[in-house]
Amino acid sequence: MENEALAYISVNCPLCGSPDFSLRYPASKGVRETMTAEHFRCTSSYLSRHGDIVQCSHCHLLFNNPQLDPKQLLAIYRTVEDPLYLEEQSARERTFARSLRQLQHVAAPPGRLLDVGCYTGVFMKLAARSGWSVSGVELSSWAASIADRDGYGQVYCGTLETHALEPTSFNVISLWDVIEHLSHPAAMLKNIHGLLKPGGIVAISTHLVDSLAARLLGSRYPFFMDMHVVHFSKPTLTRLLNECGFEVLVWRRHVRVLRLGYFLDKLEKRVRFAPLKSILHWLGHRKFLRRLFITVGSLGLVNVYARKI
Ligand SMILES: [Zn+2]
Repeated sequence: MENEALAYISVNCPLCGSPDFSLRYPASKGVRETMTAEHFRCTSSYLSRHGDIVQCSHCHLLFNNPQLDPKQLLAIYRTVEDPLYLEEQSARERTFARSLRQLQHVAAPPGRLLDVGCYTGVFMKLAARSGWSVSGVELSSWAASIADRDGYGQVYCGTLETHALEPTSFNVISLWDVIEHLSHPAAMLKNIHGLLKPGGIVAISTHLVDSLAARLLGSRYPFFMDMHVVHFSKPTLTRLLNECGFEVLVWRRHVRVLRLGYFLDKLEKRVRFAPLKSILHWLGHRKFLRRLFITVGSLGLVNVYARKI
């Protein structure tokens, strides 16, 4: 899909609905820059390339404005294919294993777990092996077919709204790296509230704009991207959860495990200084280095666990 075909629309604050905002970070990319489905992959290298990011004058939420039309966003996500993610799956398993251990401090199996935005089903697999009865929802038909093929649980291709799931039937609903993609996050959380059993848990990972990394990097914070349309802080995410009927139980650091080769490839794409780029390219093509795993825990990513009240 070419840039010309994409419609950007002005929006009010997705948290409090206010039309009053001020420009916080001006666009770091040109309006003519071409956007394709490739930019909306989980493994997108389009980090810190964003349009105008504004801050609500009332609730202080940061959000992209203008934003891509939500209907177009959905259409793009449906067509996303991400072969690089499959190569990275062993690293993703390590990341999700950490999140699952955290989750199980607040909710232990057995029980029913729904992973919203399950992508290729990596978390579903780990949760199923840990004793959960799992199902997943995924927009990308490519990713959903892979998750479905693995057979760990029912996979619904589409959105939560397009499938009539049984109310108050889940013990846990996870939203890993999802909420920042949503034009209407409150609508999703209210839907999730209705699907959870009394006292059920929602598990969310996202980036925080009040983290040290975000404050130090400013406009160059890597998670400021066109596909991330809202950027929460602890206070704004707490407010959203409270307004949707949840109480926050605990905030935990989200530690991401990456293959060193993947990390070096990303870094090489971002570096402009030619000699350093050459060194990164050389390092990135050493087979023994590519296979090593590194943990990244200081990018301001967080897991938050909240209970339905
Ligand atoms: Zn607001």
